[in-house]
Amino acid sequence: GRTFPRPPETKILTVANQKGGVGKTTTTVNLAAALAIGGLRVLVIDNDPQGNASTAMGIDHRAGTPSTYDVLIEDTPLSEVVQPCPDVDGLFCAPATIDLSGAEIELVSMVARENRLRNAIATYLEAQAPEQRFDYVFIDCPPSLGLLTVNAFVAAREVLIPIQSEYYALEGLSQLLRNIELIRGHLNPTLHVSTILLTMFDKRTNLSRQVADEVREHFPAQTLEVSIPRSVRISEAPSYGQTVLTYDPGSTGALAYRAAAQEMAERAAEGVTAAVSQSQPQ
Ligand code: ADP
Ligand code: MG
Repeated sequence: GRTFPRPPETKILTVANQKGGVGKTTTTVNLAAALAIGGLRVLVIDNDPQGNASTAMGIDHRAGTPSTYDVLIEDTPLSEVVQPCPDVDGLFCAPATIDLSGAEIELVSMVARENRLRNAIATYLEAQAPEQRFDYVFIDCPPSLGLLTVNAFVAAREVLIPIQSEYYALEGLSQLLRNIELIRGHLNPTLHVSTILLTMFDKRTNLSRQVADEVREHFPAQTLEVSIPRSVRISEAPSYGQTVLTYDPGSTGALAYRAAAQEMAERAAEGVTAAVSQSQPQ
């Protein structure tokens, strides 16, 4: 049954941070799974050639599997690419294969190269029957601002930034925000940072608390109250092709992602993000 409220319309979020290893993929798959377990319909688009999100969701992504590459480069409809997640009802994935590593270069010479993912998602969502409507679409990105990430920024309305609670966390963030501003100015005026999630948080260390305080000071409306603790179960789950939500549902990591998902769903239902988008920090 459904325990989380549905958003008024499909929410499309790009999960971005130009640093690698900060928990983008982990956050994407676990929030997506938690929302689906809460009864919502959720699609993850794996837009990173590494294919880590596909792996973590137990989705076949061997070379030759219909994938985001085909969507971006070959105009293959998303409907021919999306696979259901074997472990979680209501959770779906458009996998990434290693082919996607070539897309960055192949896109350069293509028509409407920045809009290809947006157009594919729009066509896909428009064709869905109302009762099949997706509540959330998450796009997992590589840690760079190439054309793959630009496509994700153009396709989304919202940016979700996972921030690792460590010393260099805020370094590079201003660069990311500048890039989002550039996209807003030139390619997608509706794009805004709606959600910030602190990951790998260790409440016992001063440093984690300092980083958290600083992030909350800069982004009071966007930062979720819930933060995600460091947890071995979270890092083990992908090697079993699972999210932590099914790998160890009672673990602190699973409970934290479930609580973060609930907070997101409740905010969305209350329209909190609408207010946030009007008070963008510079
Ligand atoms: P990104 O997608 O930003 O590169 P990942 O989500 O792949 O980052 O995470 C980087 C590494 O950190 C992975 O090995 C992942 O399992 C681990 N990790 C992420 N979040 C946590 C956490 N809360 N606790 C422990 N390990 C984590
Ligand atoms: Mg990743």
